[in-house]
Amino acid sequence: MTGLIHVAYIISALLFILSLAGLSKQETAKLGCTSGIIGMAIALAATLISVNTPWGWAIIVVAVIIGAGIGLYLAKKVEMTQMPELVAMLHSFVGLAAVLVGFNSFLSLGGSGSAEAASIVTSGNLPAEIQEQVAALQSKLASSSAEVSAVALTGKELFIHLVEVFLGVFIGAVTFTGSIVAYGKLNGSFKLAIFKSKALVLPGKNILNVLALVVSFALMIVFLSTTSFSVQLCVCLIPMTIIAFLFGIHLVASIGGADMPVVISMLNSYSGWAAAAAGFMLDNDLLIVTGSLVGSSGAILSYIMCKAMNRSFISVILGGFGNKAEAASAEEEQGEIRELKCSDVADMLKNANSVVITPGYGMAVAQAQYPVAELTKKLRDKGVNVRFGIHPVAGRLPGHMNVLLAEAKVPYDIVLEMDEINDDFSDTDVVLVIGANDTVNPAALENPNSPIAGMPVLEVWNAKNVIVFKRSMNVGYSGVQNPLFFKENSYMCFGDAKKSVEEIVSNL
Ligand code: NDP
Repeated sequence: MTGLIHVAYIISALLFILSLAGLSKQETAKLGCTSGIIGMAIALAATLISVNTPWGWAIIVVAVIIGAGIGLYLAKKVEMTQMPELVAMLHSFVGLAAVLVGFNSFLSLGGSGSAEAASIVTSGNLPAEIQEQVAALQSKLASSSAEVSAVALTGKELFIHLVEVFLGVFIGAVTFTGSIVAYGKLNGSFKLAIFKSKALVLPGKNILNVLALVVSFALMIVFLSTTSFSVQLCVCLIPMTIIAFLFGIHLVASIGGADMPVVISMLNSYSGWAAAAAGFMLDNDLLIVTGSLVGSSGAILSYIMCKAMNRSFISVILGGFGNKAEAASAEEEQGEIRELKCSDVADMLKNANSVVITPGYGMAVAQAQYPVAELTKKLRDKGVNVRFGIHPVAGRLPGHMNVLLAEAKVPYDIVLEMDEINDDFSDTDVVLVIGANDTVNPAALENPNSPIAGMPVLEVWNAKNVIVFKRSMNVGYSGVQNPLFFKENSYMCFGDAKKSVEEIVSNL
């Protein structure tokens, strides 16, 4: 039976790898999803087979039914624009699970291992053979004691297990609270300062972060050295968990809105490592493989996001970027704006040869992708060269705009990445900025004090005419005003993006 379970786990792991490979391209994304679902079904079946007590079986079945029920309900109810929040919330569950598994794993040692872990640390001067004999003897004594649980790890195994517990709980706790703060920041409807899209800047913020890491490390040394179970639990593990909870809150709260995409992918990565740590603690190979896949793919995504946003990977991991500069105030006067009606925009489009559409989060909110696809078709039928320029962090999740445009059946070959389109704006007659703001903000290149300074953006202002579709003069997600709106070749078309584009389509 054990062999069968291992084979099932290997097949699941391969299907998960295939799933990740499939998800990397639009054409193969469906296949990727299917591989992932089959992999998870096999993994669940193997886990059920491996449980040999009726109680264990019943608990897992009930948990699966409740989890699947909540999952189905959320999948049906959640709007596309709420997906990033949902993902952040799911990351927090992984983190919390790692914390609970860690505590359970430690408590199930029942203190039997403390003395031994200490003996490994403190009795370095004894010959290895004797150390092992002592460890084995201690273990025998421990397992004969009524107070001691069934888990009887010995020697180095126990030492490694305690390291896994400590690190697993730490990573899990940081992921848990960090993801909750990310959820709040993405949701945007909470009043607390930690949930605001603007970075929280506490005095000595970097010192606080370093302090949290140093104290946690010191507690780990004590945790591994002491012989007392109560010291391990009450002086080390519980205080470290509280520090890690606070560290997670501070790490994410101190990051400004525009840098959130990197934070989300970083938390994705952390949740993977937390799951892998849980896998080590539970001695479950599949959890280790899956956690590592999520952890490493999340790390690669963070790296790609960092490059796209011109940020340093290390400073992201340390949560120390994005808040050096002061955001320009939303009310700051930046000049005159020019307004256009939808009928004027239609006239302008009738005379254009080349049009580029740069969608952003507002297109997702308005669900304007369908009229935008219709507009594209109409213009292309008239012989206009229409293309899309997609910023890597447009919207609220990686690939957000690509998913929406694919949903509305916009052909893939006219949807270009920022690097592919940026040089073409100077030859473009009209750019339609549909609900985008930060991703087309020239302040990123022109103002070194801006919170988005250094982030590459779509250089739409180089086109002959730029028309911005939004409802008001409100700022984008980073809280920064956009000088694009005041440029001489820019026009504002106020209103809900879906309604405005529909009106333009009917005017064409
Ligand atoms: P922004 O969030 O900067 O701006 C969106 C604009 O859409 C707003 O200015 C808003 O203006 C407008 N809008 C909202 N609703 C509507 C509507 N119904 N009709 C018309 N306009 C509307 O969008 P971008 O996509 O340019 O930038 C994304 C931002 O999100 C970046 O700062 C990025 O770093 C951040 N982010 C990205 C993530 C990712 O993974 N992609 C994850 C987390 C954050 P108004 O209210 O006036 O209508």
